[in-house]
Amino acid sequence: MTTAAFSRPTDLGWQNRDALRAMQTRLLNEHLHHCRQHSPFYRKLLAGLPERDLTLEDLSQLPTTSKQDLSLHNQDFIAQGQQAADLCFTSGTTGTPCQIAYSQRDLDRLAYNDAVGFLAAGFLPGQRILLTCTIDRCFIAGLAYYRGVVAMNAAAIRNGLNTIESHAQIISALRPEGIVGVPSFLAKLGAHLAEQGVDASSVKKIVCIGEPIRRQDMSLTPLGQKLETFWPEAAHSTYASSEIATSFTECQERQGGHPPADLAIVEILSPDGKVLPPGEVGEVTVTPLQVEAMPLVRFRTGDISFLVPGDCPCGRSTPRIGPILGRQAQMLKIRGTTIFPNAFFSVLDNIPGVVDYYLEVSGASLSDEVAIFVVLAEGSQVTPAEITEKLYARTRIHVPTCLVPPDEARQRIYGRSRKPVRFFDFRKG
Ligand SMILES: [Zn+2]
Repeated sequence: MTTAAFSRPTDLGWQNRDALRAMQTRLLNEHLHHCRQHSPFYRKLLAGLPERDLTLEDLSQLPTTSKQDLSLHNQDFIAQGQQAADLCFTSGTTGTPCQIAYSQRDLDRLAYNDAVGFLAAGFLPGQRILLTCTIDRCFIAGLAYYRGVVAMNAAAIRNGLNTIESHAQIISALRPEGIVGVPSFLAKLGAHLAEQGVDASSVKKIVCIGEPIRRQDMSLTPLGQKLETFWPEAAHSTYASSEIATSFTECQERQGGHPPADLAIVEILSPDGKVLPPGEVGEVTVTPLQVEAMPLVRFRTGDISFLVPGDCPCGRSTPRIGPILGRQAQMLKIRGTTIFPNAFFSVLDNIPGVVDYYLEVSGASLSDEVAIFVVLAEGSQVTPAEITEKLYARTRIHVPTCLVPPDEARQRIYGRSRKPVRFFDFRKG
């Protein structure tokens, strides 16, 4: 492993493709060497690997790592002889939380990663950036965003998961130029500021975490559109996960997130493990580079997306990852059709009178049984049958719709997580 420090954010995406390939090939081999030296899991898995250096094309021949592997052999993934500086947990597939470790250098790497991403999105050194996400609760991304803001020489305002009124007061008093947060919350914040007459025009850029704001054709979802009624052309997506310890943030062209070339190699895989070309939808699979404490090789994230075809108009040579269309685990099979809950949700977002919703799936056979539960605005005239019809018009799938009282829905959706939960899976097996 090289000892180069991540001291200054440097966007390597501008280098030409040959230079990037040469760098990635070197970093990939250093990474695999580190895995074999320090990771009990990969020492075993990669034991039969040839001694020669691999090319980038050889990567597709290596085995993938699933969330299930991480759950079942969690301790074997923690690199030996690496001092952890931060310990996190994610929900494991076996029901036991998975431990994730980061070394001091891994935290510096995260800071560098987010600083490069924020600068690409258009945050500028010297600005004030309001962070509306938690930095505790074992949430690594919140810490990474904070470190990223500091690393790009901007000022972080860590108001976290504080009340909407408190964010309004801070925006009024400190006039931040940028915000990082969950878009559904920021859309509510925008509406509150407008209602209260708070001037939020200082905010020019928003980095949206945790929820997609674009559709597959890269146009804004209704949520993205709502956010941009308050802050026009401000919204940029970023994608990250605790395991891959890397984020991909949209540049100012806002047409997919660029993975930093020195930090990650991204592949999109079909269900049978084939590498898919740009434009084809599959599972986002990441080999994070330069990670010390918990290195991973070809980690299948469970998130479904695609590489955006063609070159980014920004001129960077790095690929772009499109919006997350769903989770592999949330894939629904309804009478021979494969669909993700987001396809229903984006229709529901556009039906006047529907103020909230969630989806339940059950069944034990080849076809899933899906029901949609909606909350209507007071006095709304829309009926469940009309909603089912509108869903059918867009998805060609008939799903029953039921009305639920607002209190019951609120408890289901917001009662258990830092993000709204709209998908409930009661399928057997
Ligand atoms: Zn770009």
